[in-house]
Amino acid sequence: MMYALTPDVPLGPFEGVPVTVWSAQSKQARLHASSSCSFLRSARATRQQVRLDASTVDRMCSQCGSYRSWARPGTGLDIFLEAVSGLGLLYELDSYTEADEDSYSEDDVRRAAALLRSKVHDHQCNTPEQEIEEDEEAEEELSDALNVRRTVLSEWRAAFISLARVHQIAEPFPWLKPWMRERLIPKIDRMEKLQDQAKQLIARESVAAAAAVSAMTTPDIPVDDPALTVLGKPTDVTSQVTSLWRRWRSTVEDGIERPCEQTSGIYDLGNRMSSRRKGRDQVLARARKLLIDWEESALHQAAASEAGERVLVARVPQGAVPRRGAQKTDLDRLTEWELGALVSYSIATDWVEPSLVVRVPEPVADRLLSGRSLLDYGEQSTVPSQSAVEPERLSDLEYGLGPGVFDDTPVHARRLLTLEHVRALRETLHDPEQMYIVFSRESGLEVVPLSVLEERCGSGWQGVIVAGASDLPDVLFPALKSTSVDEGTTEADSRWSAYSHDPELPDFGQDLGIAEGEEAIQSDYAGRRDFESARRSLALARGVADLRVLDPTGYDDRGYPRTAFPRVVWDGLLTTGTLHLAPFKPASKDGWGGSELPLGVLAKVQVYTSDAAGLYQGRAHAFHCTHRRHDRGITRDDHMVSLEELLNNEHFDPCSKCGGYAVRRLTDSQVAYYRAAHRLHALSRRINTSSRYRATTTEELTKTLDELSRLTRQTTEAWFPSSVQAEQWRDATERLRRELRASDAD
Ligand SMILES: [Zn+2]
Ligand SMILES: [Zn+2]
Ligand SMILES: [Zn+2]
Repeated sequence: MMYALTPDVPLGPFEGVPVTVWSAQSKQARLHASSSCSFLRSARATRQQVRLDASTVDRMCSQCGSYRSWARPGTGLDIFLEAVSGLGLLYELDSYTEADEDSYSEDDVRRAAALLRSKVHDHQCNTPEQEIEEDEEAEEELSDALNVRRTVLSEWRAAFISLARVHQIAEPFPWLKPWMRERLIPKIDRMEKLQDQAKQLIARESVAAAAAVSAMTTPDIPVDDPALTVLGKPTDVTSQVTSLWRRWRSTVEDGIERPCEQTSGIYDLGNRMSSRRKGRDQVLARARKLLIDWEESALHQAAASEAGERVLVARVPQGAVPRRGAQKTDLDRLTEWELGALVSYSIATDWVEPSLVVRVPEPVADRLLSGRSLLDYGEQSTVPSQSAVEPERLSDLEYGLGPGVFDDTPVHARRLLTLEHVRALRETLHDPEQMYIVFSRESGLEVVPLSVLEERCGSGWQGVIVAGASDLPDVLFPALKSTSVDEGTTEADSRWSAYSHDPELPDFGQDLGIAEGEEAIQSDYAGRRDFESARRSLALARGVADLRVLDPTGYDDRGYPRTAFPRVVWDGLLTTGTLHLAPFKPASKDGWGGSELPLGVLAKVQVYTSDAAGLYQGRAHAFHCTHRRHDRGITRDDHMVSLEELLNNEHFDPCSKCGGYAVRRLTDSQVAYYRAAHRLHALSRRINTSSRYRATTTEELTKTLDELSRLTRQTTEAWFPSSVQAEQWRDATERLRRELRASDAD
């Protein structure tokens, strides 16, 4: 069942925040989050803004109240509503408060505990024959008792996880704590009841013995024992008995049975020699005895080491309990032994940050502290009081996740982003990995991916979020005309071949431009709804100063790298072809070299390559080259240089397949200058061809030259950052004019 927000839940700083609702005219009409809610029957429903408070919550339609559509995705209110309603806080507070239909009664537990205790204390290890003769009824009773223990243990764990989850959910919203306190009482009671039951069902001495076995050293193998010689040569005896010991130890160390009861391994030993029945019984009986000896020796070794007790705190690590109820948590993967140790030695629970305090004997402490657990264990010097401790932390009120962190309060009301906020966002949004426009005093305005923000917050960065992708106004993203798809060719092919290689044609160089970048994404998404978000990502990423920060740094809870956007956005950001740089290269004597034109507005274009200066073995590659071992876009290890630097570096050694680099897509004026430079370069080639072989008339050449030399002031300023470069361009055109006249005079 999904839980709707109820009027008693304190709204804290969200009290009075305006929300958009739909409702029929009357004063008492239910409020709906969406006009399409099936409970909104009136055809005359109107859209209105109301202030969020207890009375509005009371009027909310329960269907709409269970889902969080009252707020824009990713805003603070959205995160709060997601945390509380649906399968969030209200659901958790309502679960594990009492015994359910699968729980066992107190009597069941008592009976099972008595039986299990008698197995541990009054037991003499039976020989295999005796065990077979045990009556079926006793077997059944034992299996019932074990079932009771398993159920109680797993209920206890679930109650513990639920309490941990309540605290994790409420963490960013400190104003909930006073309200929660009373509602937590039945949950804590229930968990403590289960803990008591589990304590009855688990023998501490078995838990301690298992820890001792886990730490014991390889025992001496009695190779000369006549009962074992049927196993073969002394080396066979050693290897088979050692393997029995290993298997026994690994079964024992994860369980909570008395070690010598874990007999499954010895039948394996017997199975290998089933043909010699007489010797087999002897071996089995001897093996049984060995288990008893080993248990004894483990306990002896443990007792010899400094005996004593230690008090440890087991903490649930941050993120070990995912917020959504259905997901498996790390705690579900604890071994039966660890659960048993936590329950049977627990002396206190702390619900400020979910943790358990245990007082344990040395071998158990060693094992818990060995670092093999999913929980964080630490030594505790002071023992807290028996009751759950929860100090007042009122200063938290200032740091909670209220309005002004993620949503669009006025910029002057924005609040500092913290690590807790980032985590809360991650747990709320389906796909929170994106870029944010942020502002800080130390670095001003920037566009930064969430994982980088997380790192920064972790190291004390102080800044605010100005906007995320969904905050960008729609007016910036008008609908695009759909791109047509030709039959038989892939879209990419038809797009690339559509651009001409003749600089005299107006679309020359457009394949390098930013408009083409957006089309690359559009055709990849072909009408999918998430195109809009990819398009916004592209726009935001264009503002990232150094694209290498977009290389994902962490992994999400499903183990995927945290990428700020889908892979195709890289194609929108960067060219997948290289530039033809002949116009900017030095001239050569034969006339077929470069035109020595200034790089102008292209000089500072960012170039990304795996190796800009021939530093590493092998050729340099662009991000999209199939020679790279991965396809995750630009990485932190890539080089970023300017086009000017690349052109001047004679050590740059590009791959012939990809051209060795990709550049940030060119702006309109960069594309225009790129085309103009190619036109001038082509013109110079034609002029240098003897007039007899020329395909173009002198009039045409003169016309083009006129066009390229009579630049407006705006164009000159847009193409050449310095007057020296503008001068070089003028010189080049003048020179061509002279050459044209001279060649015509021939
Ligand atoms: Zn509704
Ligand atoms: Zn390559
Ligand atoms: Zn290559």
